[in-house]
Amino acid sequence: MKPPLNLAKESDVNAIGFTVTRPEDHKQRTLEKMAELRDSMRSLMVMLETCTKCGNCAQQCHSYLGTGDYNNFPAARAELMRRVYKRYFTTAGKMFGRFNGAEEFDEETLSKWVTYFYQCNECRRCARYCPFGIDTAEVTIAARHILSELGIMPKFMQSIASAMIKSGNNMGISKLACLDCVEFMEEEMQEETGLDIKIPVDKPNSDILYVPSSADFFTNVDTMIGVAKMFHHLGVNWTIPSSVLEAANFGLLFNLDVMREQNQRLNAAALELGASLVVQGECGHGWRAAKMYTEGASGPVPFKIMHVLEYCDEHLHELPLRKLPMKVTLHDPCNYSRGGGIIEQPRRIIRACVEEFVEMTPTGADNFCCGGGSGLLMDEMLEIRMQLGKKKAEQIKALGQIDYLAIPCSICKAQIPTVMKHYGLEGFEKGGVMDLVGKAMIYDKPEEE
Ligand code: SF4
Ligand code: SF4
Repeated sequence: MKPPLNLAKESDVNAIGFTVTRPEDHKQRTLEKMAELRDSMRSLMVMLETCTKCGNCAQQCHSYLGTGDYNNFPAARAELMRRVYKRYFTTAGKMFGRFNGAEEFDEETLSKWVTYFYQCNECRRCARYCPFGIDTAEVTIAARHILSELGIMPKFMQSIASAMIKSGNNMGISKLACLDCVEFMEEEMQEETGLDIKIPVDKPNSDILYVPSSADFFTNVDTMIGVAKMFHHLGVNWTIPSSVLEAANFGLLFNLDVMREQNQRLNAAALELGASLVVQGECGHGWRAAKMYTEGASGPVPFKIMHVLEYCDEHLHELPLRKLPMKVTLHDPCNYSRGGGIIEQPRRIIRACVEEFVEMTPTGADNFCCGGGSGLLMDEMLEIRMQLGKKKAEQIKALGQIDYLAIPCSICKAQIPTVMKHYGLEGFEKGGVMDLVGKAMIYDKPEEE
C-alpha cells in the first residue's frame, strides 16, 4: 500500500532537527516510542485497552462516511495501533498473538499508519458517541508523533515546521512584510471610517498580545480588520508580536515537541512585551494548543489566555453594532466546539451583527468537521479532502439560500470554499466571525472639508 502523501525527504527532515530511522530499525524505534507514550499519555493506553467494537462511532465519522473505507471507521483506525499495542505490551497478546487480536509490527502496518492516521481530522466527534469516551483523535495524535520520531512526516508539515523555526509563523512572513500588510489594512480602515485605527506591532508594555492567524495578513484581512476595529473602539493597549505572527501550532498535528516549542515562543513573546492577556485569533487547533498546552510547555505563566471570540463576546455590549441584512449560518470548528469551550460566544456575536442567524443540523458540539482539520490541507490530499468534506456540503445544502457562511478558523476557511465549489454550492460569502463585527460597526465618518 502506497500512502497518498508526499513525504519529506531525509535532508528536509534533518533540517528541522529530526533524524530518519533506517527501515530495519522501524519496529524497535516504534516500540520505544510507544513505551514512552504509555508512560506519559495514560489516557491513550486506556483507549487502546477498552474498545468493545460496538460500532456506535461508525456513522459519526465524516471520514468513514465520506470515503467508505473501512480503515477510516474510528474503531478500525485505532485498531491499527491497538493490535500492535496488544502484541507487545499485553500478556494475552504476547501469549496468544492473533487469537487475541494482536499483530506484529511490520512495514505493511507502518504504511497503513501513514495512510489512515492522515485521513483522520482529529475532530473528536467519535468520542462524543462512544459509550467509553474513546477519542480516536488522541490515538491519531500519538501515531503521527511516533511516525515523526521515525523521520516520517508529510512534506507539508515539515515545510511549516521549518518556516516556524525561521520566522515564528507558517507562511514565513518577515517583520517587514507584516508591516507592509498592516499599513495596507490601516489605510483601508482610514478610507472606510475616517479614523486613524492602528494595528500595532511589537509595541512594548502592551496589556494585550494579539496572536492572529498568519493568513489574516493576506487572505483573511477582514478578520484582522474586525479585530483592530474592536480593540480601537474599546481603547485598549494591544499589539501583535512579530516573533509569533501565528495562532496556528502545527506541532499539535504531527509532533508534540514541535508544539511545545511554539508554545514556548508564545510565552516568551508575552513576557517580552509585558502582556497580561494573550488573545488568540481565529484558528481552531491553535486555540486548543495554546489553551491546553502553554502551561504544560512553559510552567505557570503570568498572563491569561483567551480566544478573540470569548473576548469579543465579553465586550459585545460596548460595541456600536448595527444588524446587517443577511442570513448567516455558522460552521463550528471542531477544536472550538469539542474541547475548546467555544460554542455560544460566536452565536451571540453573529446575532448582534446580522438580521437572521440559522443553525446547521447537527450543530454546536455535534457539528461535522469540514474535512480539512488536523493539517490535511495538502495538495496531494485534495481528492480525499473533498470526500471528507461531503457531510459539510450536505449540511450547507440543507439550509437553502444563505448570504454568509461564518467560518472562524483559518484551516476551515481554506478548506470549505473548495468543498463548496466541488459540490456546486455557490452564491454566498464566506469569512470569519470577526469579519462580521468589523462590517457591522457603526461609524460617523467625519465630513470631508
Ligand atoms: S477524530 Fe474525527 S475523523 Fe478521526 S476517527 Fe474520530 S470522528 Fe473520524
Ligand atoms: S463507539 Fe467506542 S467502543 Fe464502540 S466501536 Fe467505537 S470506539 Fe469502540
